[in-house]
Amino acid sequence: MNYKDLADAIFPNITKTIADYEKEYPARNLKEGAKVTRFAPSPTGYMHLGGFYQALIDYMLAKNSDGLFYLRIEDTDTKREVKEAVDLIYDTLNHYNIIPNESEYNGEIKGNYGPYFQSERKEIYHTFIKHLIEIGRAYPCFCTKEELDELRNHQEARKFRTGYYGRYAKCRLLPIENQIEKIKNGEEFVIRFKSEGNFDLKFKTDDQVKGTLELSQNDEDFVIMKSDDKLPTYHFAHVVDDYLMHTTHVVRGEEWLSSLPKHLELFKAFGFKTPKYVHTPLLIKKDGNSVRKISKRKDPEASMTYYKDDGYPALSVIEALMTIINSNYEEWHTANPDKRFDEFEYNPKKMSSSGAFFDLDKLDNISKNIISKMTKDEVFNYLDEWTKEYDLEFNAIINKDVNYTKAILNIEREQKKPRKDFGKWKDVKPAIWYMFNELFDKTELSYEWGKINNIDDIKEILNTYFNDYYDVNDDKDTWFNKVKELTERLGYTTDMKAYKENPDNFKGSVADVSTVIRVAVTTKSMTPDLYEILKLLGKEEILRRINRV
Ligand code: GLU
Repeated sequence: MNYKDLADAIFPNITKTIADYEKEYPARNLKEGAKVTRFAPSPTGYMHLGGFYQALIDYMLAKNSDGLFYLRIEDTDTKREVKEAVDLIYDTLNHYNIIPNESEYNGEIKGNYGPYFQSERKEIYHTFIKHLIEIGRAYPCFCTKEELDELRNHQEARKFRTGYYGRYAKCRLLPIENQIEKIKNGEEFVIRFKSEGNFDLKFKTDDQVKGTLELSQNDEDFVIMKSDDKLPTYHFAHVVDDYLMHTTHVVRGEEWLSSLPKHLELFKAFGFKTPKYVHTPLLIKKDGNSVRKISKRKDPEASMTYYKDDGYPALSVIEALMTIINSNYEEWHTANPDKRFDEFEYNPKKMSSSGAFFDLDKLDNISKNIISKMTKDEVFNYLDEWTKEYDLEFNAIINKDVNYTKAILNIEREQKKPRKDFGKWKDVKPAIWYMFNELFDKTELSYEWGKINNIDDIKEILNTYFNDYYDVNDDKDTWFNKVKELTERLGYTTDMKAYKENPDNFKGSVADVSTVIRVAVTTKSMTPDLYEILKLLGKEEILRRINRV
């Protein structure tokens, strides 16, 4: 009995060979230097910011080189609910317009290198595993969970490295006859890789981000096929898939670095060329005085849904990630303000190798800038879209008189130095609610009076101003001159310099008088241009609000 008999006993129905698959998945027809990348998420029902950031790198590498990037769903852990999780992956990529060149969704396949769900590639994996068994580089292991626990305890108690390796790999020594007999008897088994490595020996390998690494050889006989569903483990599946799908660059989180020696040994056992690896640094944040990784458990911003729910424009999130993907991105962007982010040449060597700071304040700033450059129509459309999903009441209000809403959104916009007050669509309502009577009337008002807060003074200012001065048709200069006249007439000062030097010598300044008008109509002490606000509200509504005061 030989390895071939063992392989046939385990996979009696597998008749194809690796060579057959190599014909089915021929080299890709791309120009020299074109990169092939893949985003390979496991459908967990949660889309981590770190995953999206890797997808963005996949996209950039492909885009920069006229290559392509595909989506492979790593669903070999079938205990999970897949459908909704896959929807989430698709919806996220679509929302950001990071569209894979090849993928499979709702039964629709785009690309010739599928299936793009690992669970549909079982026969392929079995063919490759069968080959390893035939050449004596994989074997069935019948150890029970109890035996493995015992092994681990034994190793831990002696402070030995844990794992199934060397003299602990006891199923490796079973004679083939016994192995075949056990299989015929229906005993449960996993398939393990038979390592030829020596943990005490080091080897060098290159990572695109980290540079040359010196790692210990793998010596573990790790599991490559599980017993219950006969599906491969990640270690095995990605090697086979990246080989057949002709991936040139594997972009993945640095948490995989420790298992890289396993993967490299597998590639070597098959005699396949290894792809280049781009191990991305962890996303980190400041937490008080320390720095830690952004965590799914502690940080809402770890989830991609956070950004959509709050209404960050897709481009803002992408730009914020680009600044941490490459240290020279911001400089490039400043020099090329009109270029699209994906015209930038991404270089893995210019990635921080120790951790990438993702900072929400920075995202907000980037986003405020981006939104400030939008026209009122763009802002309205995005706001309309977002409120349709997240705030139907507000959506109805802004759509009642679209021109009025756009005029509000246009205050200090479409000009050279636009106002930067919105970082996300969620910021809009709290900033402009008072411009809509429906909202003004149902809000419990709290007036932010300033220095002038005595009701008689307030009344005097408001009555005098609206009876004797205010005219909706005034231009801005006339409007302001009238406010100044009013100020002087009521015994306040327009001499801001003198006022600032000795505020106690005055009842108040022109700024305080304006504040009274501002607060009376909006309740807020800080608003955009008061002149514009008054004009938009109109005299009737202003008087109604004044009466309310
Ligand atoms: N399925 C793996 C994960 O979600 C992917 C790692 C890789 O990209 O190879 O972590």
